[in-house]
Amino acid sequence: MAFVITELCRDEKAAVCLDVCPVNCIVLTDTQYVINPDICIDCGACELVCPVEAIYFEDDLPTEYNSATLLALNYFRN
Ligand code: SF4
Repeated sequence: MAFVITELCRDEKAAVCLDVCPVNCIVLTDTQYVINPDICIDCGACELVCPVEAIYFEDDLPTEYNSATLLALNYFRN
């Protein structure tokens, strides 16, 4: 389980999550920031600072953002 960044990041990309992540598991793709689910320790720090509330704990992800989980999995595990 991990935190995930939804498409709400795409028009913002504020990057403040990078400053608070203790394990440096957030990276920028062509479209938005994504969280490496294999490294994320579920601290929740990024969720608290995101200015557009783009970040959710995977279990709490609204269904309309389900693609966010796949985006991260495909990016880091392919
Ligand atoms: Fe990093 Fe914590 Fe956010 Fe995971 S939940 S991406 S460890 S800041």
